[in-house]
This record gives sequence, structure tokens and C-alpha cells, in this order.
Amino acid sequence: MKVLLVASELFPLVKTGGLADVAGSLPVAMMQQGCDVRVLLPNYPGILDKVENLEQGPQLGDPYGHGEISLLSGQIAESGLELWLVDSPALFNRPGTPYLGLDGYDYQDNHKRFGALSWAGAVIAQHGRLLNWQPDLVHCNDWQTGLLPAYLKIWSQQRPAMVFTIHNLLFSGIFDYFQYRDLGLPDGEFRPDGMEFFGRLSMLKSGIQYSDAITTVSPNYAKEIQTPEFGCGLDGLLRHRSDHLSGILNGVDYHIWSPENDPYLAAPYFENHQEPKQLNKIDLQNRFGLDQDPNKPLFGVVSRMSEQKGLDLVLEVLPYFIHKGAQFVILGSGDRILEEGFQQIAVEYPKSVATTIGYDEQLSHRIQGGCDFFLVPSRFEPCGLTQMYALKYGTLPIVRHTGGLADTVWEGTYDDAMQTGFVFGKATGFELSAALDRAMQAFRNPGLMHKLRIQAMRQNFSWDRAAGNYLALYRSVLYGV
Ligand code: ADP
Repeated sequence: MKVLLVASELFPLVKTGGLADVAGSLPVAMMQQGCDVRVLLPNYPGILDKVENLEQGPQLGDPYGHGEISLLSGQIAESGLELWLVDSPALFNRPGTPYLGLDGYDYQDNHKRFGALSWAGAVIAQHGRLLNWQPDLVHCNDWQTGLLPAYLKIWSQQRPAMVFTIHNLLFSGIFDYFQYRDLGLPDGEFRPDGMEFFGRLSMLKSGIQYSDAITTVSPNYAKEIQTPEFGCGLDGLLRHRSDHLSGILNGVDYHIWSPENDPYLAAPYFENHQEPKQLNKIDLQNRFGLDQDPNKPLFGVVSRMSEQKGLDLVLEVLPYFIHKGAQFVILGSGDRILEEGFQQIAVEYPKSVATTIGYDEQLSHRIQGGCDFFLVPSRFEPCGLTQMYALKYGTLPIVRHTGGLADTVWEGTYDDAMQTGFVFGKATGFELSAALDRAMQAFRNPGLMHKLRIQAMRQNFSWDRAAGNYLALYRSVLYGV
């Protein structure tokens, strides 16, 4: 089976969040199960340094009048994953993140930038002979690839099968009608049962509307998004397409996220040899000038700072738990008010709180390794990867019962035999505090902590399972089996 996977970011080449982890790991796991998979992403600055066996591919055309778009092919060294890069200097050779300029705002022409990614994917899907490789199925990810199924549908009846994965329904690629007109799409598709969404273009809606199957990244989130509370205005369409909608839980790349062989940790450890975890805690306390005290529970956060992630709740309860002796290490960036709030509290309590604003892959590993608990109090969470990493590091996650968090972390009411973390219900400071209190109580019981860590570290969310599920879905879309 030949599969073209299209995404706007991919670890280790370019990453702003969980999508990159998925796009970097899922195709490798699929390859290992015999699938002939190639990945398409934009050629952002700096990517080529990390790609091997680079070759110039064919020119595809100039859909929007910004110059010829061509393809580059190459491989990722460690995994051998085959890549195609959409090369358009006018659209992609810019400083900033894949989506935002240096001023922190969306690029004004993101509709064309990701329209071009979708368009290039559609050209490959339609004219595989250009590359001697014709995909049986195209797997699109998030709004940045949402126009691909639309282009294919409009161009021809004879097209590969299409699967569209929603990694986060909140980000839907909304643009104005005048921008729609830049994209070479017929006016006839700009209608409520097409790509139109309250008078504007929704690229995510396009992906949902025109694909053969829709997935999202956890079974629970697949149910939630069919309700008005989580549906972001698309719940009606998702209910309408529910026969074609399913949830496949993301996986973890245990080559990258495992305390046994994590090069960023001060000391490796594993399930039956947990003692060195303390060294990682001391290392973290040292690095940030926190009180060097093994008896103080250390809570970690690695996250985008946004309302979604519920970090305002953490800010709300933090002073109370500092006074109870807890310490916090926070890494993240995003919302200015949250950034400032966490910075300020670190200045007020330098022995108890350390805040790092920014993106730091290495520090994110050290926080996973060195903390006792890991906080993910999201208001909604399509899957969430950090709580799964935390489980593997025996850093007990404290999560809200929503989306993929509810699918991956367990806390029973009466029994700790299956418990792997702490789970709370409503997104309130009160309920989060109650969960933190339960965690603090467990911390005072070393025997219980040891047992819970073992239960957490034994959880297995490998990509093999997720890849198997995707391949089964592909077969059902292609052959009806
Ligand atoms: P989302 O994709 O919604 O941001 P996920 O939990 O699915 O959330 O994935 C987040 C990924 O990004 C994880 O790999 C996490 O470790 C990483 N991450 C988030 N913020 C930072 C940061 N400030 N520095 C380093 N890594 C980060």
C-alpha cells in the first residue's frame, strides 16, 4: 500500500507542537509494518541541513502567481523516512515559526502558503507518474492540508482515497471570501455544504467535508467533538459524518521518550531501578536554584500557554501549594498574560518556582525526568502527548478528565490497583486543588508513590499499535475490509 502523508510540521525537522511528533513517528511505524509511505511538507528555512540524499524533483506549476513550485526529495537520516519538500521560496523561506512572523502574528498569506502545500499534495496524488510513485491513499493532517481533498475532488472523479486527521478542532484555518478567490477554487464549492463556514472559508471544514474517512487523535475526543461544547461550530457536520469518523489514540516514540536512554537526563532510570530519578530531581532543583530538598514535591509543566491548556488554573492555585511546600518548574510560551503571571510568581518565590519562557526540547526532557508530578489541566485535549511521556518517566500526571487525557490516565475512586495519575473533573481551581492535594498526600507515602510509578511506567502507548490501527483504517477505506 502506498500512502502519502501530508503535514505542516515534522519532528526532528520543524516542530511547534504534538502534530510534529505524530508526523515524525507515525510514518516510521507504518514503514516498519510494510507500508510504502512518503511524507510531504513545506521547505521551511533550515530544514535542508537535516535532510539526507537531497535531490531536485520536478516542477509542479505556479498555482497562485508567486513563482514555480517544485519538489525536493530526501530522507531523514535516523529513520530512513522518505520525504518530499514543497519548495517555494516566496511562500516558505521566511523567519519565524511555520505559521507566525517574527511579530508573533499569522502571516497574511497563510491561505496561499498552506493552500500551496495542499495543492502540491493534490498534484502528486493526481499525477504520480511525475515521480514514478502513485499513492493509493493520501493522509492529510489538520487545516493546513484541508484544501487537498477539495482540489482532488474538483479536479477528477478518479483519485486516491483520502483520510483526514483532526489534531485540534480549535484551529480551523479560517479565511475571508476574497482570500478564497486567490486559491483557484470554484465559487460553487463556497457553500454551507462545501467549504463555507459562516460566510468565510474554513480549511478544516473542507478536509472534513471531502475526505473518505475522518479521524481524530483519541477515541474520547472523537465523541466530544460531536457535541456543541467541543464542536467549535462543526459538531453538526461531524455528527452528519459520524459513520466515517473514528478516534485513533496517538502513540509515543519510546526511542526519544524513555528515561532508560534519554541523553538529556543527569541519570538514567527505569521501572525496577527508580532511585536515580532523585538525581534528576536534584539536578533540576540545582539548575533553577530551587530549595534542594528531596522531600518537597516537584510539579512540572511543559506546554503551550493558552486557555486550552488550563494554565490559568495552575496560576490560581500555585500560591496555596507553594505555602504547603510544593515546588514548580514551568516551561512554555504563548499567551502574554500567562507568561507574565508565571514569570512574576517565579520572581516572588525563587526557591519554589522556576519559569522558563520559550521552547526548549532538552529542558522538556529534564522536566519529565526530574519532577514528581506533571500537570496537564487542559479544558480540552484532543490527545495530549506530554501526559503519556510523563507516564513513561514515572512522573505522575495530574490531568483533567477530557479528550485523550481521559483515555490515557486513570485514577479510581476506591482502589489504586490501576491508578497511574490524578484526574479531576471540572476546569476549576477548586477541583485542580483537590487533585493536587491527593498528589501531595500520595507523595508523603513512598511505598504508594513507588507502586504508582511502576503502574505508570508500565503503560504502553507505542506507535506500533497506532500504526496498526491506521493501516486497518486505510484498508477499510480502500478495500472495504
Ligand atoms: P499540543 O500539540 O496541543 O501543543 P501535545 O501534548 O499534543 O500538545 O504536544 C506538545 C508537544 O510539544 C510535546 O512534545 C511537548 O513536549 C512539546 N512542547 C510544548 N511546549 C514546549 C516547550 N515550551 N518547549 C519544548 N517542548 C514543548
